[in-house]
Amino acid sequence: MNRGLLLLLAIGLLAGCGLFRQDREVSINHLGTGGVVGVSQGSTKTIQISKDQIYKGNLILVNKTYPLHKGSTASDIVNLYEHRELLDGFGLLNDQIRLPTDLVQRFSDMVAGAAKDGVDHFLISSGYRDRTEQNKLYEEKGSDYALPAGHSEHNLGLSLDIGSSLAPMNEAPEGKWLKDNASDYGFILRYPKNKTKITGIQYEPWHFRYVGLPHSRIMQEKNMALEEYLDFLRKQKSISVNVGGESYKVMYKPVARETTVQLPAGSEYEVSGNNMDGVIVTVRV
Ligand SMILES: [Zn+2]
Repeated sequence: MNRGLLLLLAIGLLAGCGLFRQDREVSINHLGTGGVVGVSQGSTKTIQISKDQIYKGNLILVNKTYPLHKGSTASDIVNLYEHRELLDGFGLLNDQIRLPTDLVQRFSDMVAGAAKDGVDHFLISSGYRDRTEQNKLYEEKGSDYALPAGHSEHNLGLSLDIGSSLAPMNEAPEGKWLKDNASDYGFILRYPKNKTKITGIQYEPWHFRYVGLPHSRIMQEKNMALEEYLDFLRKQKSISVNVGGESYKVMYKPVARETTVQLPAGSEYEVSGNNMDGVIVTVRV
């Protein structure tokens, strides 16, 4: 990596948490996993996507059928009990909870939004779990209540279990608020009551997954679980959406070995794999 690229990366990191980071050469997936380098040529930019990109990004599907691929886990995972400066408006169930710092920031933004509506008794009850922890849980709880190591979204680092200090989440104001509003902040209720046949998981009013905007809003509006949304994108190949006053183009691209995608030069884009057979390219237009 040359020094210019390193500098761009450093500036991107310092600039913090815009949904997309705009520059002409580099786009960085803002939570955790791998970036894609683009080359500008006149009015278009060609981005090269290699097969390993299928397994990186915010839209990775992890379930009983599609296990986590090596290298998919989000980076910068920290123990929150040891990083109390990150605790902003919420508590922790115990001192073992780990999450990527970027994800905690997103969660804090959401919690701040809830506080404006008078909903402010959030706590995090579980975050990232490594394979050893997941195996232990699976052995203790059995297959009805836990997934084997590598098949849980908690192994990915983009999911968390959220609780309320007032009541169980299916009754607490925190649970209701999240169900209605989490998608505005890039999160989805991953295992809703009406999708158990599709997700294969019982209703979990506490388990939220980060997928990012505009995807969370599209899924909410179309009433789609992540499995359905990724199938929908594969069939549609390309959709145009307007979310929060911004226009986006969301494209599915199959990746057998390597593929290239042409985008308008200077456009802001993000690439995420689906953990199956291709990537989703999201462009702000
Ligand atoms: Zn969970």
